[in-house]
Amino acid sequence: MMTRGLEQTVMVSDFLTASGSWNLSLLEQHFSLDDRDVIAGIPLGSVSQRGDSRYWFFSKNEKYRVAVRQCDEDFGVGGSDQRAQEGFWMRIWKLAVPNKIKMLLWRACMYILPTAVNLVKRRVLTSLVCARCGNYSEDAYHALWSCKSSKKFWKCTHFFRRINLVGGTFADAFEAVASRLSKADLERFACCVWSAWKLRNDFLHGKPVTRVDHLVENTLDMMARFKSCEERSKLPLVSPQVRWLKPRVNALLLNCDGAVERGQGDRGLEGCCRDHNGNFICGFAVAGPPSLDVLGTELVAVREGLLMMGYMSFSPFTIGLDSQEAVSILKDERDW
Ligand SMILES: [Zn+2]
Repeated sequence: MMTRGLEQTVMVSDFLTASGSWNLSLLEQHFSLDDRDVIAGIPLGSVSQRGDSRYWFFSKNEKYRVAVRQCDEDFGVGGSDQRAQEGFWMRIWKLAVPNKIKMLLWRACMYILPTAVNLVKRRVLTSLVCARCGNYSEDAYHALWSCKSSKKFWKCTHFFRRINLVGGTFADAFEAVASRLSKADLERFACCVWSAWKLRNDFLHGKPVTRVDHLVENTLDMMARFKSCEERSKLPLVSPQVRWLKPRVNALLLNCDGAVERGQGDRGLEGCCRDHNGNFICGFAVAGPPSLDVLGTELVAVREGLLMMGYMSFSPFTIGLDSQEAVSILKDERDW
């Protein structure tokens, strides 16, 4: 970025008017017209509340540094700022949430979500105004938190009462939230951000808009399914040495299995009871309840098997499963 007659010690606040907006005529004196437009397009958010500093916290884009790098080097500062910045991004990348949610947070903090404000800058739209409420310009903070449509959703979560956000950019808001919440709560918050963005997109694309209370349920369900898959991926794979073991004489073996079809997501429950010679005694194969995850389906299959054995008054018997996680839960070795 080319500058004209800029002092090394110049501050961002030197380019703001008394009301806290960009001073366009002053920018014009020191920058080319293109650069002036780029700077004027930077959302100020709560910069005036935060105070001026030698770095633009939430962006690694050189355009935003306004020639302070050389100044930092001359004065020997910037190391801790850079560490703080890296810590901020690491906090997002280390969240145990689906990658699509990390990407959404990152894009929102980098001011590159396709909100009305950004689409106007790219000349895709001509109006900055939020299409949902029609009252405010739509940047990431407005779309994800402060629009009245988003607030309806957030009010159904416990975050709305716990977090008092007072405006600014989405990056400011996320920084404030991240400093107050535990990692687990921050992960739930991140999933809610995803749902708030989905709510906004469904409206704009003319899709049926999910009721906000259902959306909260779906969000928590998404989080639970992700956690369950994560846990399962950490479990050791079944050893190829594992083989069917005969039950002892006069005892029975009940094998149960729950399966979720990849494409349609249909659930199936199956069970088979054999004697100590491997002879088939009885069994079942039925459709499972919808919306359960793989582990839940496995456990419902066990319940069906136990009901069958109780109905037939078979005892004693052993249960055989192929899910290490389900076995751990039934043995009370981990929470369900
Ligand atoms: Zn709005």
